[in-house]
Amino acid sequence: MSHRQGLHDDGLAPYAALEATSRGRRHPEPAAGYRGEFQRDRDRIVHSNAFRRLVYKTQVFVNHEGDLFRTRLTHSLEVAQIARTVARALGLSEPLTEAICLAHDLGHTPFGHAGQDALNECMRDFGGFEHNLQSLRVVDELEERYAEFPGLNLTFESREGILKHCSAANARRLGDVGRRFLERRQPGLEAQLANVADAIAYNNHDVDDGIRAGLVSVDTLAQVTLFRRHHDAVHSAYPDIPSRKLVHETIRRMINDVVTDLIEETRRRLAAAGPDDIDAVRAQVGPLVAFSDGKHEEHLELKRFLRRHVYEHERVQGMREGAVRTLKDLYGAFFDDVALMPAEHRDIALRLESEQGPAGRARAVADYVAGMTDRYAFQEHQRVFR
Ligand code: MG
Repeated sequence: MSHRQGLHDDGLAPYAALEATSRGRRHPEPAAGYRGEFQRDRDRIVHSNAFRRLVYKTQVFVNHEGDLFRTRLTHSLEVAQIARTVARALGLSEPLTEAICLAHDLGHTPFGHAGQDALNECMRDFGGFEHNLQSLRVVDELEERYAEFPGLNLTFESREGILKHCSAANARRLGDVGRRFLERRQPGLEAQLANVADAIAYNNHDVDDGIRAGLVSVDTLAQVTLFRRHHDAVHSAYPDIPSRKLVHETIRRMINDVVTDLIEETRRRLAAAGPDDIDAVRAQVGPLVAFSDGKHEEHLELKRFLRRHVYEHERVQGMREGAVRTLKDLYGAFFDDVALMPAEHRDIALRLESEQGPAGRARAVADYVAGMTDRYAFQEHQRVFR
């Protein structure tokens, strides 16, 4: 099958997401003057309020614990940067890859996963809260930047990439972008790539942050095959290297190791499957962007280590309790009295309640709370409970 190549499709592989075969935007728009459609998506994300809020949202360590820890913003930039390298090497759309990476965490609550779990519990009777679904809601509904439509009106391919997982009930409700979860099809390669790059970024930067926070030592990390191999190589080549350089040089080599494996294994799988176009990619039984089995195991070992030694560390868990309490207090207070929210959110809550009943009110409260940065959530808590 051959395609008319779009103006911005030059040099891309046939299995990449091409503008020429894009499923387009929900609200049709005239073409941009100089930019491709996926560039335009990326730029809309960068200009959004939700994107700027990521700077004050916790990744693992609460923002005020130190200036060098990753925030959701720097995490998203690292994900995009890793994924762009791979996209280029594979002939995929770099702007689409970047758009998906920069948007993948837009729906995260304040206080990282603790915040998402708390809000999910609050919303249990009203369809729950899931940060990944919320990222799509942010770009489809919540951003207010255009006169003609709600949200950012991104292309189908960006929306498909942002929605990484989804229950059957939500998939039915979402229509086009949810259909693949019901039909068990894959997303495009750029979406698959963003997903793996997310894991590469956090698995490696959380080693760095974990050491910086004093939660793990280089000696403990030597249990992890991937870390040990590169650490030992650096140490024997540079026996007198200062410890900070040793850590950074080790992590740099770890990222290079897994990224190289990802490119090579994905090339092998693409060669074996031979998809002619993005629809052939979507029809595959499993993802084509993947690590080799050996690297997959090493990466999992690192992930398990981080869970035990960093995410479940009592200092990180201690932050969790405060976060859960703050968000549950805020949700409860606003749900009970929507007039406690700023006027525009109160009005949205009243409108959604008149349309959908209590579930509508709950959703408006969840949208407001989820949109908060860590520090804004603390400020709101002080305001409401002073
Ligand atoms: Mg992420």
